[in-house]
Amino acid sequence: MFGENIFVTKSFLPPKDEYFSYLNKIFNNCQLTNQGPLLKELEEKLTNFLNVKNFHYVTNGTIAIQIALKALGIESGEIITTPFSYVATTSSILWEHCKPVFVDIEPDNFTIDPEKIESVISENTKAIMPVHVFGYACNIEKIQEIAKKYNLKVIYDAAHAFASKYKNKSLLSYGDISTCSFHSTKLFHTVEGGACIVKDDKISERLELIKRFGHQGDNHYTLGINAKQSEFHAAMGLSNLPYIKEIINKRKIICDIYDTLLKDCIQRPKQQSNVEYNYAYYPVVFKNEKELLKVFKALNEEQIFPRRYFYPSLNTLPYLTDKINCNISEDISLRIACLPLYPDLNINIVEKISNIIKRNII
Ligand SMILES: *Cc1c(COP(=O)(O)O)cnc(C)c1O
Repeated sequence: MFGENIFVTKSFLPPKDEYFSYLNKIFNNCQLTNQGPLLKELEEKLTNFLNVKNFHYVTNGTIAIQIALKALGIESGEIITTPFSYVATTSSILWEHCKPVFVDIEPDNFTIDPEKIESVISENTKAIMPVHVFGYACNIEKIQEIAKKYNLKVIYDAAHAFASKYKNKSLLSYGDISTCSFHSTKLFHTVEGGACIVKDDKISERLELIKRFGHQGDNHYTLGINAKQSEFHAAMGLSNLPYIKEIINKRKIICDIYDTLLKDCIQRPKQQSNVEYNYAYYPVVFKNEKELLKVFKALNEEQIFPRRYFYPSLNTLPYLTDKINCNISEDISLRIACLPLYPDLNINIVEKISNIIKRNII
C-alpha cells in the first residue's frame, strides 16, 4: 500500500477471465478488425448506455475530431475554440489545415465563455469547438444560440464527458458532432479508442465512409482514412463497460472525501446546474504557481504525482503563428492541478494528500 508510486490516475482493468472470454471469441472466429462482431456489440451497448444515435467507435479521440471536421466538410477557415484543454483539441484543428481562434474561459468552470464568442466571429469562421473540460458542461444553450444565428457548426470535444449528463441527456448528445476519447487514462477506456456521435443521419453516413478509406467494396465515394478500431480494443471496452457504474460510484466517494478534507482551503470549480457529474477528474486551483510548485514538491517527496492539467494554456503553444491573449486561461493554467483519483485509491492516501496540501498552502 505505502511505498508505491501514486499517479494522477490508474487504468481500471477488468477481471482477466472476463477479458479472456472475449479474446477466445476472437481466436475462434479469426476476425481481428474491419467492423467485426465485438466492435458491433460494443457500439450497440454504448449506444444504449449513452442513449444516443449515430455512434461511431474509432481508433482514438484525436482522429475522432479530425474526421468530425472532414465529415462536416470543414477543410479550411477558422474554428473558435478554447485554450484550456489537452493539446489534441488545438492540434487536430491545425492538422486539418484550419486556424484555431481562441476564446477565453469562464473562471468558475473553465469552459469557453460564450459571451466572448461573437466578437471573434468573422466571414472565415466555420465552427465552434468547445470542450466539456473535466466533464463539466459548457454553456450549451448559449453556444447553440450563437451557432444558429451565424450558421456555424458545433463540434464538442467531449473527451472527458463520458457518462456526464446535462438535463438528463448524455453530454455526448449535443452539438452537430460530439467526440469522445476512450484512452487508458480516461474514465471509460478501451486501451486506445474514441468515438463520434453525429446528430444528422447524412453526416453520419459520410463519417462512416470516411473512417474506412471512403469506399464500400469497389465503389470509391470520398477521400477517407483508416479510423477503424480492432476487435481486441472492442473486447476491452466490452469487459470494462459492466463496471462503469461501480467505477463512478467509487470515484464519487473519493471526491467527497477530498471535498470534506480540503473544504475552505482550496479553490474548486463550480458545477453548473442540471448536470449529473461523472467524477472524471479532481481539479484544484492554487493561489499562484509558487504555491502549486511547493505542494507538488512536498507530494513528490512522498511518491505522489498529481498532474498539471491543463498546462500550458494552448493559445501560448510555440508553433502557433498568431498570438491571442486569454488572460483567464493563462492564469488558471499556471495554478491548476488534478489530484490522484481512481477507484481503488486508498483512503489513507487521500487523507495523506489532503494533509500535505493543507500543510503547504501559503
Ligand atoms: C485525451 C483527449 C483527447 C485525445 O484523445 P486520444 O484518445 O488520446 O487521442 C482530445 N481532447 C481532450 C480534451 C482529451 O483530454
